[in-house]
Amino acid sequence: MPAERPRESPAQRALHKLGLRRPIDLALHLPLRYEDETRIVRLADTHDGDTVQIAATVVGSEIRPGPRRQLLVTVDDGTDRCLLRFFSFYPSHQKSLAPGARIRVRGEVRGGFAGRQMLHPQFRPDTGELPTALTPVYPTTAGLPQSYLRKAVLAGLARADLSETLPRPQPWSLRAALDFLHHPTPAVSLAALEDRSHPAWQRLKAEELLAQQLSQLAAKRERDRLRAPSLPATADGVRDGLLAALPFALTGAQQRVVAEIAADLARPQPMHRLLQGDVGSGKTVVAALAAAVCMDAGWQCALMAPTEILAEQHFRKLADWLEPLLAARGRGIAWLGGGQKKRDRETQLARIASGEAALVVGTHAVIQDKVHFQRLALAVIDEQHRFGVAQRLALRAKLAHEGQEPHLLMMSATPIPRTLAMSYYADLDVSPIDELPPGRTPVVTRVVHEGRRDEVVARIGEQLREGRQVYWVCPLIEESEAIDLVNATATHAELSDALPGVLVGLLHARMAPAEKKAVMALFTEGLMGVLVSTTVIEVGVDVPNASLMVIEHAERFGLSQLHQLRGRVGRGAAASACVLLYSTGDAPRLGETARARLKAMAETTDGFEIARRDLEIRGPGEFLGERQSGAPLLRFANLEEDADLLAWARELAPRMLDDHPLLAERHVQRWLGGKAEFLKA
Ligand code: ADP
Ligand code: MG
Repeated sequence: MPAERPRESPAQRALHKLGLRRPIDLALHLPLRYEDETRIVRLADTHDGDTVQIAATVVGSEIRPGPRRQLLVTVDDGTDRCLLRFFSFYPSHQKSLAPGARIRVRGEVRGGFAGRQMLHPQFRPDTGELPTALTPVYPTTAGLPQSYLRKAVLAGLARADLSETLPRPQPWSLRAALDFLHHPTPAVSLAALEDRSHPAWQRLKAEELLAQQLSQLAAKRERDRLRAPSLPATADGVRDGLLAALPFALTGAQQRVVAEIAADLARPQPMHRLLQGDVGSGKTVVAALAAAVCMDAGWQCALMAPTEILAEQHFRKLADWLEPLLAARGRGIAWLGGGQKKRDRETQLARIASGEAALVVGTHAVIQDKVHFQRLALAVIDEQHRFGVAQRLALRAKLAHEGQEPHLLMMSATPIPRTLAMSYYADLDVSPIDELPPGRTPVVTRVVHEGRRDEVVARIGEQLREGRQVYWVCPLIEESEAIDLVNATATHAELSDALPGVLVGLLHARMAPAEKKAVMALFTEGLMGVLVSTTVIEVGVDVPNASLMVIEHAERFGLSQLHQLRGRVGRGAAASACVLLYSTGDAPRLGETARARLKAMAETTDGFEIARRDLEIRGPGEFLGERQSGAPLLRFANLEEDADLLAWARELAPRMLDDHPLLAERHVQRWLGGKAEFLKA
């Protein structure tokens, strides 16, 4: 019989959901804000809008019947009276608030002349004794009352090991800082507590940043101990052939990152480099040159993209560039996709296993168990944030023989602000492409209310008459794919009607790969004038003749998503435009963050500036998402505001790892617990 496990109470489950398992986790769960219950205010001294605590006697209590039943309680503190109004209440409320009861009440005072009121105040029996510290209010979740959480935190604080891990004593010890932040004395400035400038907060933020820097540096050092095939660049190979055959010259930025990558590949340690460049900045050719270096050294390269369409586009482009050069050397390019016939797949697998396929391009299919490389040395991952940690690990395992690891080149079109990259990608080297190829005209962006849809459709007609092509994007909301499909289908019908004689296509997530492919082909070849799609077109589709992008319900998209979508146009020399159609639904106006996003889109096309604003609007947690960064997020420190603490942590981390490895280990365990493992991918 299986041993019976002790049942978790709902509150315990809620604690675990917040990640509060160990005593130290509870001790480090710090208040969001505080309530001052140490003071009693005289009612006569309060003003409209003040949040106060009073001590008073109940002088009247009644239930007002009606569609919204209310409990109305009148209290008197000797200086004035106040009406307490409750819309939801239990019989126990009535009992505690019976006439004659002495209570302490805390809430916001409303009204002056017509009599003071409090709506749903907190109350408790007045025992005469006031707390001596401010009352902490903790971040919590459904099913976890503050009172339970407060007790749990107190217990955690009592049991946690708070011995110092910093090599040099600090003005505030960890224990003193935590005791203080959980129960500050009322004399302290609430402002300094709440804006987290108080020295106790500084101590905590410094600790947190140090843990982050330590864990990432440790991961980086661990990686440096790994071995990878050294791939020195050679002359007169595929790389030189490609450089000679390209119809354009590399930009300065491309040359710089190509050199950085080549230097990494020549080393016997695995490269772990993130190539970030705005949409259209020309990352593909950089990847092709890296692959060429690898193939020239006699090894194999794999390139993986998150969707079939993107992977195929890479395959076509790379085949164009590299196939002739490889064929002359008796090698070729293999393709691995989802919708492949068994026979074809087996042929490809054999080419990969024999090493004849010097380059393998595909989707997730590339990392399946059946794929055996003869000698894989470089893996390129496009749109790296779309792959999980497990998938990256699987790719690395493909070169498990001889205890070596492949070099890893990750590409991302989501530029990350420098401070964030410095902090979150401490174990990654970052190569930015901060320059677009010449001859691009910036995309003009207009934010247009849904009510002016007809004008937008007229504008499409103009573009088509000039021989241009148009994207129309409808939002995809995962929970309601069916509804989205209805919307996209309706828009497709509407545009087909409004634009007689024009081929209008529809692309959505539920279509079979072959169908998608056929639609994309018509658009790529210029036969289709308008492509209506849910967001499946996404990043990376390259049709330079497309000059107008309309995004319907633009208010529902995230900022970087909008930026990615807009990057589909303006890829040729023609002047291009992006129209952000928005709707406010039933509300009179757009919400604040939606407005900030659309404004940012209209004001700039610079991907790094967009990223900076996105960070501002969303905060780093959401910006990166745990999946993308693989890094634990900062709870207390703020990378912009706490730049000096970050500098301190960056400076201390390497010395601490060298001179105090045990303290470093304990520090990381304390702050990150089991999460530190995650960073190694
Ligand atoms: P992304 O960085 O978004 O993946 P791509 O690699 O698809 O961008 O490049 C966008 C377009 O720019 C492609 O058509 C590519 O051939 C072209 N391109 C890349 N580099 C240059 C360059 N240095 N000069 C001119 N065109 C370039
Ligand atoms: Mg690309």
